[in-house]
Amino acid sequence: MNFDLTDEHLLLERSIREWAGREVAPRIRELDRAHTFDRGLFPQMAGLGLLGICIPAEYGGAGMDYVCLGLASEELEYVDTSLRVIMSVHVGLNCLTLLSWGTEDQKRRYLVPQAQGQKIATYGLTEPSAGSDARGIQTIAIRKGDRYHLTGEKIWISLADVADNYLVFAWTDLEKKKQRDPSGMSAFIVERAFKGFSSATLTEKWGILAGNTGTFKMEEVEVPVENLVGREGEGFKIAMFALDQGRFTVAAGATGLIRACRDASVKYAKARKTFGVEIGSHQLVKEMIAQMESDYQVSRLLWQRSGWLKNIGRRNTRETGLAKWFATVASERAAADAVQIHGANGYSDEYPVGRFYRNCKGAVIYEGTREIHKIMQADYLLGYRTDKPTRCELPPFRQPKD
Ligand SMILES: Cc1cc2nc3c(=O)[nH]c(=O)nc-3n(C[C@H](O)[C@H](O)[C@H](O)COP(=O)(O)OP(=O)(O)OC[C@H]3O[C@@H](n4cnc5c(N)ncnc54)[C@H](O)[C@@H]3O)c2cc1C
Repeated sequence: MNFDLTDEHLLLERSIREWAGREVAPRIRELDRAHTFDRGLFPQMAGLGLLGICIPAEYGGAGMDYVCLGLASEELEYVDTSLRVIMSVHVGLNCLTLLSWGTEDQKRRYLVPQAQGQKIATYGLTEPSAGSDARGIQTIAIRKGDRYHLTGEKIWISLADVADNYLVFAWTDLEKKKQRDPSGMSAFIVERAFKGFSSATLTEKWGILAGNTGTFKMEEVEVPVENLVGREGEGFKIAMFALDQGRFTVAAGATGLIRACRDASVKYAKARKTFGVEIGSHQLVKEMIAQMESDYQVSRLLWQRSGWLKNIGRRNTRETGLAKWFATVASERAAADAVQIHGANGYSDEYPVGRFYRNCKGAVIYEGTREIHKIMQADYLLGYRTDKPTRCELPPFRQPKD
């Protein structure tokens, strides 16, 4: 067993740390307070190769391995969750799904410009009436000739109001919709530019304020049959497949947030004095800091194991789910304790820990809530759940040829 990161991993980690520390960290408090999503981040992230990080070079990507995707997610969320969310929806949920399930034509038309960062992509499953219960979605896609007509509304979609391309899930079989049989669902690539598409930003959100989260509506949006991803009826499987990749980025990101809480807490505990000593010398403060370190190290091992499984092409739904569940719940604990260690100052936006506290909660809800993950892990143990092979799998990492 080798736990060492390669030179390429270390170089990537260092370059993102330097870039995010220089270009984003000094501005993030203001962006967050102003509820402003900075579109200027896209070209910068594209310049670093992040928007196509683990997409092979033949499809416009940087050709790195899946551990690199995790490292990038961890480093980005160390600065702010909104940065990591871009990786989750654009790379994790969308690009990797097109890489695995898309036709050659879809890869040329959509994956290449996305991996190069010319187009931004996201993932639309959740609806006003259905989140955890994805079979409850109402969006329908009716085939008429060589087009599907999509009608429905998606909500709580990251980058909804700024993306160009959307991976959308809809019922193509209305009989199966009535029976809630997921083999009646299909997946489509929808462009913002298609007639009948509209989007909006959710303005009442209280976390990830420097990120964009919104809704989009489709009113009889005509989608060419060439934009059906996978086969008709494979939509639910594709939605779940995409979550295996998105959850990986969320797990690694939450690990970065724990580290940010730990570092801020250590700094503050050495600067603040009570009863004549640094608060770090009080045992109860030490306990919180030690818990952050243990949560950080365990979370990191869990996501790195998932990344390794992805690299060698082995199914990792169970391991990735565990990594996501553990790291997000631990990040909530770390953020709450970081605020606690900062006392009243933790309750103010002058210090970053209040933002960490607001930001961490989203990840305990999206990409499978804490409760859904708990049930999944118990079901694996009890034998109520096993992972069946899917027709398309994530391609294992192949070292690029020189
Ligand atoms: C910031 C943010 C960004 C998001 N981005 C996206 C995105 O890009 N794309 C997208 O498609 N969606 C996105 N979502 C939506 C997210 O995936 C859903 O909110 C999530 O799946 C939960 O669904 P829900 O909100 O409808 O809650 P519900 O499913 O209504 O759940 C409500 C509560 O009931 C519990 N519960 C539900 N079912 C069970 C059960 N069987 N057993 C025990 N407890 C249960 C849940 O755990 C939860 O505590 C985002 C959400 C947020 C907050």
